[in-house]
Formats: sequence, C-alpha cells, structure tokens
Amino acid sequence: MTDADPAGPRRIDAAALERWVRAFAAAVAEHADELTRLDSAIGDADHGANLTRGTAAVLEKLDAGSGPAALLKQVGMTLVSTVGGASGPLYGTFFLRMATAVGDATELDAAAFGDALRAGVQGVIARGKAEQGDKTMLDALLPALDAYDAALGGGDLSATLRAAADAAAEGRDATVPLQARKGRASYLGERSVGHQDPGATSATLLLAAAADAFS
Ligand code: ADP
Ligand code: MG
Repeated sequence: MTDADPAGPRRIDAAALERWVRAFAAAVAEHADELTRLDSAIGDADHGANLTRGTAAVLEKLDAGSGPAALLKQVGMTLVSTVGGASGPLYGTFFLRMATAVGDATELDAAAFGDALRAGVQGVIARGKAEQGDKTMLDALLPALDAYDAALGGGDLSATLRAAADAAAEGRDATVPLQARKGRASYLGERSVGHQDPGATSATLLLAAAADAFS
C-alpha cells in the first residue's frame, strides 16, 4: 500500500485499517472542541469528549498483527465500553459489524470494503432505529454509502473514498435545517432546527479519514 502505484492502492490490509483508525483519532482530537460546541447547541456538550476518550482508548490497544477483523473488533469493543454517550454503542456497533463482514480476509478490495461499510451502517440502523432525515450520524453515513457504490465502478479506491467523504460532508451540512427525531437532540423538538448534527459531523471525519488513509 505504501508503494507508489500510479493507479493508487487497490487493497486494504490490517495496516491500512490501522492508519484509518489513527487518522480518525487524530481528526477527532483536532475537532474535539467543534464537536463539543455542536453538541452543546442540541445535546449535552459531550460528543467531543466522548469520542476523544473512546479513540484514545482505541489507540492504546490498536494492533494490526492479528488481521483486519480482529483489529476492527477490538476498535468496536473498546468504543462500546469507553464512550458513555449514545455515539459509543453506535460507532462500536459500526466497527463490530464491519469486523463480522470482513471475516477471515487478510486484504479487502474496494468492493469488499464497501460491503463492510454497508454492514457497519446497517448495524448503526439496527441499534439506533434512526432513518435518513432524523438528523443523526446516518445523514452522513447513508449518502456516503450511496456515493461509494456509485463511484465503485470506476475501479479507483481513492476516488471512491473521496466521493464517499464528499457525500458525507454534504449530508452533514444538510442536517442543519432538519428537526431531530432521534437521540438527545430530539428532546428539543423544533429548537433543534438550525444546528449541525454533532454525530453527522464526526461521521464525516470518519469517512474523510478513510479517504486520507487509503490514498
Ligand atoms: P449523547 O447523545 O448520549 O450525549 P453523543 O453526544 O456522544 O451521545 O452523540 C450524539 C450523536 O449521536 C448525535 O449527534 C447523533 O448523530 C447520534 N445519535 C444519537 N442517537 C442516534 C440514533 N438513534 N441513531 C443514530 N445516531 C444517533
Ligand atoms: Mg452528547
């Protein structure tokens, strides 16, 4: 993956997944104040702290040595057990479902990574029972999946991930006018309108980290 292939990387191994998780942790640390500010407007001001604590715990245990599924499972279990808020079980489930989808593969091509992403997002839906338009992380994740699938035919993993990350950012921005129907923000009713969703913001960081790590 580190070889300069002019066509870009084609496969994702455990080391690449480790780079992704490290890039996500770095982005969370960098944007922690922003995530907290967004969550203070429509939640309880802990989203930055929750994810900073969770990703810091993840980094302590991160080990690509036992392969993609083991790495993703470790990330998921750590997030579930260290992040107090709603986002911990949701992001944790995302990584745990990815791990199951990966199975015993040692490398993923773009299609297999897309399948794993889809499984992860389906886990978020199963766990949180939210739909697109409810003003949650799914408003970034679902458009990202659609864009990923649409770009996949081009055969360029970097471009596919970039398209997914761009779509996540658009979905994040589109949460501003929405009224929250799930999670803590839903308690605000109409007062949740006019604010960007914190979880859609962190989910966009997750997709952007993948685009960076796998390019
Ligand atoms: P908490 O709401 O418990 O304080 P966080 O602040 O860490 O947890 O995370 C809040 C984010 O979690 C929200 O911005 C939203 O994107 C996401 N979220 C909350 N409930 C759900 C749900 N049922 N499904 C999907 N995402 C959700
Ligand atoms: Mg919160």
